[in-house]
Amino acid sequence: MTQLPIPADLPDVTLNENAKVVLSRRYLRKGPDGKPFELPKELFWRVASHIAAQEAAFKGGKARVAQRAREFYELMTSFKFLPNSPTLMNAGTDLGQLAACFVLPVGDSIEEIFDAVKHAALIHKSGGGTGFSFSRLRPAEARVGSTGGVASGPLSFLRIFNTATEQIKQGGTRRGANMGILRVDHPDIIRFIKAKEREGELNNFNLSVGLTEAFMKAVDADEEYALVAPHTGEEKARLKAREVFSMLVQKAWESGDPGMVFLDRINRDNPTPQLGEIEATNPCGEQPLLPYEACNLGSINLALFHDENARDGVDWEGLKTVVHQSVRFLDNVIEASVYPLPQITETVRTNRKIGLGVMGFADLLYQLGVPYNSQEGVNLAEKLMGFIQDESKLASKALAEERGAFPAYAGSVFAQKQQGPYRNATTTTIAPTGTLSILAGCSSGVEPLFALSFVRNVMDGDRLVEVNPHFEAALKMAQAYSPKLMEEVAKIGSIKAMDYLPEDIRRVFVTAMDIEPIWHLKMQAAFQKYTDNAVSKTVNLPNSATQEDIWDIYWKAYEYGCKGVTVYRDGCKTSQVLCTGEGQ
Ligand code: UDP
Repeated sequence: MTQLPIPADLPDVTLNENAKVVLSRRYLRKGPDGKPFELPKELFWRVASHIAAQEAAFKGGKARVAQRAREFYELMTSFKFLPNSPTLMNAGTDLGQLAACFVLPVGDSIEEIFDAVKHAALIHKSGGGTGFSFSRLRPAEARVGSTGGVASGPLSFLRIFNTATEQIKQGGTRRGANMGILRVDHPDIIRFIKAKEREGELNNFNLSVGLTEAFMKAVDADEEYALVAPHTGEEKARLKAREVFSMLVQKAWESGDPGMVFLDRINRDNPTPQLGEIEATNPCGEQPLLPYEACNLGSINLALFHDENARDGVDWEGLKTVVHQSVRFLDNVIEASVYPLPQITETVRTNRKIGLGVMGFADLLYQLGVPYNSQEGVNLAEKLMGFIQDESKLASKALAEERGAFPAYAGSVFAQKQQGPYRNATTTTIAPTGTLSILAGCSSGVEPLFALSFVRNVMDGDRLVEVNPHFEAALKMAQAYSPKLMEEVAKIGSIKAMDYLPEDIRRVFVTAMDIEPIWHLKMQAAFQKYTDNAVSKTVNLPNSATQEDIWDIYWKAYEYGCKGVTVYRDGCKTSQVLCTGEGQ
C-alpha cells in the first residue's frame, strides 16, 4: 500500500465523545479479534497519505506528495472537510473501494437480473450503496418467450434484491442501502406505489417513482396517461394521472414511501447525454448516475466558517481554499479507488464525477442569528452554494490544465457551451452526511436540527445524547441558561412554546418540526439551484399534516425545480432514527 510513515511532529486529532464511539465502532481497522488496531491519528494519516500519493501519477506530482499528505491530514482533522465513509474506511487498505454511490442497470432477463444482484452484493460488501431502475423489466403476467410461462414482474425481483442485501452486512460496518425506481408509466406502477404499505416490507430499499414531464402535465390538466410495456412498447392501460398522483401522496402520508424523482429534469442536467440516459439515483437520492457509474462524495463543514468580522459573517477566503483542496482530494480519490467491476471503473474514469457538498449549515445559521425559515436564510443558502459551485468549477478547470479533462468532455454539454474544459463531469452534490456529521460534531447536510437536544439511536441499540453547543452558548450569553431548562428542552426538543425565553432566541433556534414545510422546500430549491447533482433533504411534517399538505409539497417541489422530494410525517413509523428524549 502506498503509505508514508507517520511524521514524528504530526499533530494528534481531537475528537468529541460521539466521534470516538463512531470511529471505533465503524471506521478504525480491526484485527481478527474484532478489536481496533488503529488509532484515530493513524486512520486519518492512512487516508491522507494514500490519497496524496495519487499525485505521483501526474507530471511533477511526486515532489508534492509529502506536503499534500499533510495538507489533507489537516483538512480532515480540522473537520473542515470529510470524504464519504467508504474513503475513510477503505483508503490505503486491501479493499480500496472508496465511493459511496453506485447505479447498476437491471436488464429484462434472468441472467441480467441476477448479475445485478451479484454486483450489488459486491458493492455492499465494500461499503457502497446501490440504486436501480426496474423500469426495463417486463410487467407481471407478461409472456416469457423461452419458457412460455408468465413473468413475475419488477416487484418480485425487488424482493430478491432486498433479501440479498439483508444477508450482507457491509463489512460489519454499514448495512446495504438501495434505491429502487420505477417509471410512472410502467404497467406495474400501482403495485410499486403500494409496495411498502406494510411496515418492514422491503426494509433495505428506498423507493421512488420516476415522474416524467408528460405525467405532471397530465396531472395538471386532469387527463389520462398511458402505461406502456417496456419490452414491447405496447400500451397496456390508461390511468387518470391525478388518481395515481393521489395514491402516491396517500402512501407517502402513511409511511414516507415512495418518494419521487423527476427523471426528465435529471436528464436535462445530464452533463454527458452522449453516454446514455440517467434512470436512477443512489439510495438517498442525491446522486443521479448512469448505469455502472459510481461517485465519491465529500462534505465541507460550514459551521467552521463563521467569522463575525467578515462580510455576511462568513470566512469566504477560508472557504475558497477548502473548496479547492477538497476538489483535488476528491479527484485523487477517483485515482485511488478500486471498483468491484471493470464496467464501473470504465464509466467512472470516463466522467470522473465528484460530489462536493456541505454539512453544518444549520449550525452556521445559529451562529449568524439567521432563522432557517426566513428569506434571509434562503438567500444565504444561495450565496454559499453559488460560491462553492463556482469555486469547485474553477478548481476542476485548474485540475484539467494539470491532468487533462475528463475523457467524455469533448461530447459533453460543457464543450457545446464552450465551458471548461473540466476535470470532472460534475463537482457538487449535497449528501445526507449521516455519519460524517457525527464525526465533525455538526448538523447534518443542509437539514435543520432535529432537536436542540436529543437522543440518537445508532447501530446495535447504542444511544448518544447531544446538546447543540450554539444553543447553549446563546442561552448563556442571554443569561437564560439553567440545567433545569436543558432538561425540559431534551424532553420536547423544541423551544417554540417556551414563551418565557427571549424572542430572538426562539426565532433563531428553530428545529425541523418548528419549520413550516414550505421553508424546507425553499431551502432545498435554493441549494439545488447551485448543485450539479441533487440535494438530500427531508421535508419534515407534524403528525397532524394532511394528504393535501403532501400533495401541495410534491407539486411545489416540481414547480421550484427540485429533482426529487422526500417527506416524512412525524410518528408514521414505529422506529425512527432520530427522536426527541421522551418515550424512546
Ligand atoms: N450509504 C450507504 N449505506 C449507509 C449510509 C449511506 O450505502 O448505511 C450511501 C448511500 O449511497 C448514501 C450515501 O452513502 O446516499 C451518502 O450517505 P451519507 O452522506 O449519510 O454517508 P456518510 O458518508 O455520512 O456515512
